[in-house]
Amino acid sequence: MEESIFAKIIARKVPAKIEYEDDSYIVIHDIKPAAPVHVLVIPKRQIPSLNDITAEDAKLEGGRYLVVKNVMKKLGQSDYRTRFNYVAMARQTVFHLHLHVLARGDL
Ligand code: AMP
Repeated sequence: MEESIFAKIIARKVPAKIEYEDDSYIVIHDIKPAAPVHVLVIPKRQIPSLNDITAEDAKLEGGRYLVVKNVMKKLGQSDYRTRFNYVAMARQTVFHLHLHVLARGDL
């Protein structure tokens, strides 16, 4: 599998604004934010899309939502929406399963 841009960020081969990191996830600010606050919650393992998720990956999924809660609290946000894009029809462009989290910031 070709290394995704997010895998390169995790490996520190490409810079990014990293908001949070643990053994399983990294959270970065989207390079082209679609809202005043727009972060991506990315598993360290390069799962290309939801179609490729394994039972082992699924065990980690609950942790992703805890990461969302904690990071958004750190960013002072309690009102936000989340979005996964799955494959071409949903306009997924980076094949490393990531959750978009968008908030209006101080507006
Ligand atoms: P998707 O359409 O769900 O695959 O979205 C991929 C997202 O990754 C887009 O919102 C991009 O702006 C974002 N993105 C791509 N490259 C980078 C990067 N180097 N750093 C931060 N965000 C990125």
